[in-house]
Amino acid sequence: MHMMSAQTVWETLLEGNRRYAVGRELRADISAQRRRATAAGQHPCAAVLACSDSRVPVEYLFDMGIGDLFVVRVAGNVIGMQEAASLEYAVEHMHVPLLLVLGHTGCGAVDAALSGCRVGGAIGSLMKKIAPAVDRAQSRGISGPDLLRAACVENVHQAISDLLSLSPAVRAAADSGTVTVAGALYDIETGEVTGLKT
Ligand SMILES: [Zn+2]
Repeated sequence: MHMMSAQTVWETLLEGNRRYAVGRELRADISAQRRRATAAGQHPCAAVLACSDSRVPVEYLFDMGIGDLFVVRVAGNVIGMQEAASLEYAVEHMHVPLLLVLGHTGCGAVDAALSGCRVGGAIGSLMKKIAPAVDRAQSRGISGPDLLRAACVENVHQAISDLLSLSPAVRAAADSGTVTVAGALYDIETGEVTGLKT
């Protein structure tokens, strides 16, 4: 599937998501046959950065099977050096046409950053990654549940921006059109993925 255009991959993902959201006609191939067929090498059609949240099962929600998606999951779908390296690998060595940063509604990591509680240790460094997105959402004067949603959207844009600055290789591939870097938001209640303007 990896020779598909970014647009075709995106449409395929969206179609899979619509099947998943209504809970029927799922086609994800997780068979033993598929497992054996992919053992010799992988050709995923997209790379996805998503949150570790247990309610965001990336392959399920796109109705994808073994070997279809190269997935990086980290709390708050933030970009640090390791995440950038993983995605750079997918772009440079697996030639994925689409790199999707998938945020989600009700993200606990974004909510924690919004609450402004000071935490130290490893979690503190995660909050710092999300802080600029939270600042931008708050500066718009939104409140309540809309604020969390806006911050989750801003956090997707932040991850894309951080990825492009931490990985010159991904930036070059994006500039040349080799890869399309896109953002989307997954609604943990409806199960639907919505593309974001980037
Ligand atoms: Zn989350």
